[in-house]
Amino acid sequence: MTAKIIDGKQVAADMRAELKAEVERLKAKGIVPGLAVVLVGDDPASKSYVTAKEKACEEIGIYSDDNRLPAETTQQELMSLVDKLNRDSRIHGILVQLPLPRHIDENKVLLAINPDKDVDGFHPVNVGKMVVGEKAFLPCTPHGIIQLLLRSKVKLEGAEVVIVGRSNIVGKPLANMLIQKSPTGNATVTVCHTRTKNMAEHVKRADIVIAAAGRPNTITADMVRNGAVVIDVGVNRVEDTTRKKGYRLVGDVDFDAVKEKASLITPVPGGVGPMTITMLLYNTVESAKRAAH
Ligand code: NAP
Repeated sequence: MTAKIIDGKQVAADMRAELKAEVERLKAKGIVPGLAVVLVGDDPASKSYVTAKEKACEEIGIYSDDNRLPAETTQQELMSLVDKLNRDSRIHGILVQLPLPRHIDENKVLLAINPDKDVDGFHPVNVGKMVVGEKAFLPCTPHGIIQLLLRSKVKLEGAEVVIVGRSNIVGKPLANMLIQKSPTGNATVTVCHTRTKNMAEHVKRADIVIAAAGRPNTITADMVRNGAVVIDVGVNRVEDTTRKKGYRLVGDVDFDAVKEKASLITPVPGGVGPMTITMLLYNTVESAKRAAH
């Protein structure tokens, strides 16, 4: 069997078109969704993420408030900015790009964001709400994965899902979302990590395998059951002297071999990646809708 490719760019484009229409409806009622993006320092990767987020906002009509601060910004200065944005009624979402410079306590900053504007879904209030199944801002990457699955008509109810990776931004929230008693959950979930014994035995059982380890070739073809759905979250740089940059991006899955066994598979790049920013836009629009009520 050769897998069908899940085209994350296309799913993201479809969702962004839906969101653009929603933004137009809100604007007709006098509401302009606003996202404040905060970047401290000049880490090149963070800069390019922030630029991509702002561009995506612009494309669908979200007002984007750009806050770029020098690396020597103090904790107090950053906390004051967050406080100001918390009180600004034009702003429905606040995104503080991580990582922050070492002298800043990241946790303190994330805790200072008003949970009603926490469109990254990292504030403990939103994490707690998600765990107990209350309405909350869901973290963007795991929520994007669920949307990719649902929009590819993958049945979650009763599915055996194996997630490799237990980070706070991907593995843990994804496992929580998938076990919820809801149409976007109802799966049976196993979470593997570096202390898991016989990981391959777990992965072999899976109807849906989700790899979020951050290591190339974590999932090889011998681990994957025929017809499984494979979602690759990993983004890894591997040396490639044929490329101008000297590297290329690969996921955590041995794509070429696994695609011959899976029924559906996401590529890297072009799979999960485009969904992450899309879900940030989704949360910002949701926040503007809630603020209007
Ligand atoms: P992380 O914080 O480094 O966590 C990696 C997790 O994988 C840990 O729980 C670790 O186990 C586990 N792990 C690592 N190697 C393993 C192995 N050989 N076998 C089993 N488990 C293993 O990473 P993250 O932030 O979740 O990100 C994971 C990957 O997804 C990265 O490549 C990242 O770049 C990518 N990512 C992509 C997007 C996107 O939008 N496309 C968004 C977020 C992340 P322990 O807990 O035991 O150490």
